[in-house]
Amino acid sequence: MVKSEIKSEVENVVIIGSGPAGYTAAIYAARANLQPLLITGFTSGGIPGGQLMTTTFVENFPGFPDGVLGPELMDLMKAQAVRWGTQLIESDVISIDTKTKPFKLTTLDTDIYSNSLIIATGASANKLGIINEEAYWSKGISACAICDGATPQFRDAELAVVGGGDSACEEAVYLTKYGSKVHLVVRSDKLRASAAMIDRVKTNEKIFIHWNTSVVEAKGKDWLEKIKTIDKNNNVGEIDIKGLFYAIGHTPNTSFLESQIKVDKKGYILCKQGRPETSIEGIFAAGDVADAEWRQGVTAAGSGCMAALAAERWLSEKNLSVLITREQPDPLESDRSSVYDEEEVTEETFDSNSEWQKGSYALRKLYHESKRPILVIFSSPTCGPCHVLKPQLKRVISELNGEVQGVEIDIDKDQEIAKQAGINGTPTVQLFKDKLLKKQWKGVKQRSEFKEAIKNII
Ligand code: NDP
Repeated sequence: MVKSEIKSEVENVVIIGSGPAGYTAAIYAARANLQPLLITGFTSGGIPGGQLMTTTFVENFPGFPDGVLGPELMDLMKAQAVRWGTQLIESDVISIDTKTKPFKLTTLDTDIYSNSLIIATGASANKLGIINEEAYWSKGISACAICDGATPQFRDAELAVVGGGDSACEEAVYLTKYGSKVHLVVRSDKLRASAAMIDRVKTNEKIFIHWNTSVVEAKGKDWLEKIKTIDKNNNVGEIDIKGLFYAIGHTPNTSFLESQIKVDKKGYILCKQGRPETSIEGIFAAGDVADAEWRQGVTAAGSGCMAALAAERWLSEKNLSVLITREQPDPLESDRSSVYDEEEVTEETFDSNSEWQKGSYALRKLYHESKRPILVIFSSPTCGPCHVLKPQLKRVISELNGEVQGVEIDIDKDQEIAKQAGINGTPTVQLFKDKLLKKQWKGVKQRSEFKEAIKNII
């Protein structure tokens, strides 16, 4: 990517990160007429929307008595921030310069200057680093049960989750929907999850807990077949499994700060006790990036609110804020179209010219009859990364003026097609032309990658 331009204007406040902390800060800053700029992050430090994008039902976020899907909650927060005038940039921040005033941020695409900053970059899932981890990554080993659990290889197979926190327990319970048995491998003699979560694990007959046990090696041929374990008495064992899922905690996403702001020994940003101010005046932190202890969606949102209010006060004290004037005191209603799922097309609703359709009927028809390239996204209902990627693909297709057609396949509903296509994780994107597979991508990628590949075959 090229650094295209240096923006001449200086922002009031730039928020880095698009989890509950970032979006809540944006909502407050936008309603204070500061017109915040929010950099969502893209491929570094997890996916836009943060950790809730890879959870299923969030049952403890106030206001949703029956729970809410993590990606749906994030869509709602995003829509609320945008409704009040937040500007979004889909990019990663590579570095910041805190020595210049205004602060300078370098993203993948451009340099941005801002009088104040709110850092809400969250934390990323840890890996175990066992023998053969790389060889079996996406071939049995995954850091996201919620994203990959529905893949055909895991159906009715024995699976394992490593970890003893809420994530591990939630994922173990979730995987019982697909696997025949779930081994929960816990390195100590206790679970540190919430009491309600522990109850669910302990009462689930499909979950078997291996206490005081660590995983040391992955084994198999083309696909993971077993893991080697060792217990606290040095007894070595093996468990036959087809899927190994990590849920062993997180590391804060602060590497881009390059020691410009004080962080603790684990990398969490150090703030004044119970406050959002960091070691640099005018820079505030919110959410998991500065919180090694509570790490909840609701605490992240609360700290995002504090960071925005603190930034607003600081800008006003320093006489640095340039407030916008709204023509209408109440903004238009938010666009929530992306929150709701699309219908699968049928023989009656199929349209051979449509740019985007869902389901196996559409895929079969286009595969056999379309002269245009077809971009197929294999998704699963609770996969947050799929949720992030879908609008990106739709944008690529629309930017190419419909010269390519898109189809979404829900691998939960269309298991046979997923099997035939060799899908072992979501999102997977396949590009076809004249019934031939031209290219395949796994995970979230930049729009330019898809565009380039499509242009090469048009
Ligand atoms: P936690 O840090 O709470 O737990 C990490 C777990 O992984 C611990 O059991 C830890 O073991 C274990 N672990 C760490 N490193 C290793 C290793 N190298 N080998 C084996 N095991 C290891 O992380 P979570 O992601 O579970 O939770 C983070 C936060 O998010 C928590 O506050 C949690 O409550 C919250 N959360 C809430 C959910 C909900 O309410 N629905 C769902 C998911 C998370 P040990 O205990 O021995 O240190």
